[in-house]
Amino acid sequence: MADVELTAAIKSALAEVDIPGGGDLAGYAGLSDIIVTPGAVAFAIAVAPGMEAAFGPAREQAAAVAQRVAGTRKIMVSLTGGKPPAKAGATFSHGKPVPPGKTPVPGIKHIIAVGSGKGGVGKSTTAVNIALALKAEGMRVGILDADLYGPSIPKLLGLEGQPAIRDDGIFSPHEAFGLKAMSIGSMLIKDQAVVWRGPMATSALRQLLRETDWGELDILVIDLPPGTGDIHISLFQQAEVDGVVIVSTPQDLALIDAKKAIDMLPRFQVPILGLVENMSYFIAPDTGARYDIFGSGGAEKAAASLNIPFLGSIPLVMSIRERSDAGVPPVASAPKEPEAQAFRAVARQILRNTPQIRS
Ligand code: ADP
Repeated sequence: MADVELTAAIKSALAEVDIPGGGDLAGYAGLSDIIVTPGAVAFAIAVAPGMEAAFGPAREQAAAVAQRVAGTRKIMVSLTGGKPPAKAGATFSHGKPVPPGKTPVPGIKHIIAVGSGKGGVGKSTTAVNIALALKAEGMRVGILDADLYGPSIPKLLGLEGQPAIRDDGIFSPHEAFGLKAMSIGSMLIKDQAVVWRGPMATSALRQLLRETDWGELDILVIDLPPGTGDIHISLFQQAEVDGVVIVSTPQDLALIDAKKAIDMLPRFQVPILGLVENMSYFIAPDTGARYDIFGSGGAEKAAASLNIPFLGSIPLVMSIRERSDAGVPPVASAPKEPEAQAFRAVARQILRNTPQIRS
């Protein structure tokens, strides 16, 4: 069945699902678009705050009905009680913030997220290579691509095909270079643009995070979307994040953007692990000479003025782009090269700044 036909078939089957207050789900204004990918079907049901429990049976029935129509595809149905309040992240009791419902992710001891102020600064490249560098330090590591709007982990790690789905609906992640890896990108048709409505994106994040068999991991590295948004809020509200690494290029503009990303974190009681300066200097391929093409030390100074740790600089080298495009990241495929060593140094600095991870 073509995707459009499947979408229509699911939509009309949802007429079988009764909802609280009368009527059926197909005709309900709070039903989102139905997204169909080769491996999954996803939709959300928006309900008035406080109505989540009442809609629980409708959600289960909707999932069962969708499963019947969609065959082996993974069904992702979420209930959403609307947007979190603007000052999300903490409720207050006797004047003290109380962490909202953060729950552990099965099998995962620590979470490190990688963010940036804007796109194109090498955030995903850095996330992948940091994950590999942490593995090289003896950790058991996974990577989750939470950049749902521009997933690039499948390309960076050369992942082929979709992740397997077990009988109980749990994803078996890909394995690449010793990392467990999950990305919504593996479930999309090549170059398919996905328009995620906020609640659907956060629901997809929750399922990729919690409905994946990660095994036992010391660290899950999460590649966040650039900037700040629903995905960040959703992650920081639901899981204990050990800290966020911010990637920036040396240009001032990018640093200003990075500052915005940094500013949001204290609101969620998420520690900032520090700033990585990417594409910071140029190493001539023939002579190995270093050129500080944007002037040196911009990010280091910015980190100092923001009062956050500086984690290190990554050179601008052609081979990073070439190896990334080829799905063979430098830390795994050229570990002796200076760029791989630069990522290793950043990972060691991260571990120094997070003593709880080694203990
Ligand atoms: P983001 O996740 O911030 O959007 P990417 O990691 O996708 O950025 O990187 C954007 C582009 O820049 C990619 O083509 C990547 O290969 C390239 N790139 C990233 N870091 C470097 C670097 N240090 N040297 C050369 N090219 C890089």
